[in-house]
Amino acid sequence: MAQRRIIIKDKTFEVAIPEATILEAVANVARSIKKDYAERNPYFLIVLNGAFVFASDVIRLVDYPCSVGFTKLKSYVGTNTDGNVTELLAVPEDVKGRNVIILEDIVDRGYTMQYLLHRLKEAGAASSVIGALSLKPDHLMVPGLPVRYTGMTLPEAFIVGYGLDYDGQGRTLRDIYAIVED
Ligand code: 5GP
Ligand code: MG
Repeated sequence: MAQRRIIIKDKTFEVAIPEATILEAVANVARSIKKDYAERNPYFLIVLNGAFVFASDVIRLVDYPCSVGFTKLKSYVGTNTDGNVTELLAVPEDVKGRNVIILEDIVDRGYTMQYLLHRLKEAGAASSVIGALSLKPDHLMVPGLPVRYTGMTLPEAFIVGYGLDYDGQGRTLRDIYAIVED
């Protein structure tokens, strides 16, 4: 495991979930997806930027034909979310008629995924479910959100690492770190 405590900009973080635990959780997600979508040629829709590390690990464990596409959504500034979602890279048109598995880093309040599911319906996807690295269950504000696959549940704290950032930093950390409040 890497250093227990690190400083990014003005904040202190400490290891919350070590790499080995993350990779075990990710392998479980991939195994379930692989079983459920055999013969269905799934379409993995990766939500940039935060999900890119998680997604690259998942999709390489699903070793049969599938498609991969990307969208980029922004709903966060610093450590606060305001519920507004902006589409920075549009939902790809070739999701039409496909069985889509959204790969997302964190489902927090759920507004980002609610927005994306609505857009996938508009774009004519045949079905859409969510595969999330993590869920903050106490924060979820959208009832009935189809979070079909979840790697782990998280504490309340803001986290970085394994693709997730704090103001653009920390994405390359192998462990997941949680913020230490002063
Ligand atoms: P929601 O719309 O579900 O409230 O927000 C989800 C988005 O907020 C996720 O896509 C994720 O990028 C971001 N997010 C939520 N919690 C955290 C966190 O603890 N750390 C980081 N880096 N991003 C977070
Ligand atoms: Mg995100």
